[in-house]
Formats: sequence, structure tokens, C-alpha cells
Amino acid sequence: MKERANKVVAIANQKGGVGKTTTSVNLAACLADAGCSVVLVDLDPQGNATSGLGLDRDNVESGTYHALIGEVGIKDSLLPTMYETLRVLPSNTDLAGAEIELVDHESREFRLREALANADVDVDFFIVDCPPSLGLLTINALAASDTVLMPVQAEYYALEGVGQLVRTVELVREHLNPELALEGVLLTMYDARTNLSEQVAADVESYFGNLVFDTIIPRNVKLSEAPSHGKAVISYDATSRGARRYRDLAREFLDRNRAIA
Ligand code: ADP
Ligand code: MG
Repeated sequence: MKERANKVVAIANQKGGVGKTTTSVNLAACLADAGCSVVLVDLDPQGNATSGLGLDRDNVESGTYHALIGEVGIKDSLLPTMYETLRVLPSNTDLAGAEIELVDHESREFRLREALANADVDVDFFIVDCPPSLGLLTINALAASDTVLMPVQAEYYALEGVGQLVRTVELVREHLNPELALEGVLLTMYDARTNLSEQVAADVESYFGNLVFDTIIPRNVKLSEAPSHGKAVISYDATSRGARRYRDLAREFLDRNRAIA
């Protein structure tokens, strides 16, 4: 019997460059550092979450792709990281073909859900880093998840596209996964020096209310440097603002989850 929650959280926004991967890697690392057991599922063919934790995405023997097509169980593909309680289900470029390959599969929207159900892995959280589209891979993530965490970049047009994501979540709830809930909305790359960031924050707040995390992720160069060193920011520069805010996020995330548990 499984003893842990095995909660599945999709990090999704069809817009590229809004901080999905940065949030996936750093939230997963901070949760692990706080003592949680975590699997980071890299669902993006670009494999940035895989490489961002220092793993070689070009030499992945099996990973998310093989789980989706049912060739290798999740447990057999998990790779260890520098954090004892964080493992990665890695991506590699094969995943790029999966959207097309899966089209003819029966239950094509439920491949990840089934793979997770059969995973025989007992963790507190699965964090799923989604690709920048609302294609079949992201649909698989939403169909498999308990909640969605949406990173929203504090910039012009931030809310453009978020409406489409919200509608997609509603459609998935209606047709594929009635239990799907919003974990929260995270403001990323916030620049306190601009009125613009403030304005976007106000807009996001009026749209999503208390679903917006109190923690706001600032624009911080350490966050953009850390991946090229194969490290989460808490290991690359533990005292940087980026590291402190992602620790705050993990704490807030855990508080919210305890409150409903
Ligand atoms: P996505 O996964 O949504 O495409 P990423 O997390 O890869 O977005 O972020 C896009 C780029 O912005 C990356 O180069 C990343 O290092 C950088 N980045 C993300 N968040 C921040 C931040 N808070 N401050 C500075 N750079 C960031
Ligand atoms: Mg990404």
C-alpha cells in the first residue's frame, strides 16, 4: 500500500519562457531539501529540466517517452540527483515524436496517468514540467494531475494566453479528469523597478484572487545561471534572492497543502 500522497502537480503554461522549467527544478529541489520525497517528470522534449539538474539528456536510456508508450515503467527510468530525495524521470529528444506517435494509441490522453498509476513509486510529489504548448503532452499532464501550478511572467500580455490555459483546464476537468484543481498562480521574473511588473501583479491578482501565491519570484541572474552548472539555485548560490524566494515558495506550497490535507 502506498503511504505517501503521490500528489501530481503539473507546471503548465503554453507560453514559452515564462519560468515553467525554472519553477519545476527549483520547487522540486526546495521540496526535497525540506525533506519531501519528489519525482520531477520532464515532459518537455527539450529536456531542460533534465539537464538543469546536471543529467545528460543526450544519453538518456529510457525516460518519459518510454513511460508514455508503455515500453519501460517509470520506476526503471528514474535517475538520482544531488538531492537524496529527488529523482528525475528524464526526457530526451524521442519525446518530440511522442505527440504524433500517440495520436493513434487508444486512451492517448491517459498514457501518463496510466504510467503513474502503475509506477509503484511512493513519493510526496510528482512535479511535471510541461512543454510550451497545449498539445497532447500537456493534455497528458493535465489528465494525470491533481493540480496545476501556472507560472505567469510579469510582463506585457502576461494574461494573454492564460485565459486559454484556464479554458483548457476546464475542458480537461469536464472530459478527462474531474478532480483537476488549480494549485496556484505564480508570478515570475518580477522586476520591482518597473511599474509594469506592479501593474501585471495587480491584474493577475484581480483575475485569480487568492489563488495567486504570496511568494513572487524576482528576476534574478543566479536563476538563469544555475542550469548551465547543472544545479538548482539553492546549490548554485544558496543566499541569492532567487534561492530565497524558491524556498519561500516551497514553504508556502507545503503550508497550503497541509491546510487541505
Ligand atoms: P519555460 O520553461 O516556461 O520555457 P524557463 O524556466 O526555461 O521557461 O525560463 C526561460 C528563461 O528565463 C531561461 O533562460 C531561464 O533561465 C530564465 N529565467 C527563468 N526564471 C527567471 C528569473 N526569475 N530570473 C531570471 N531568469 C529567469
Ligand atoms: Mg521549459
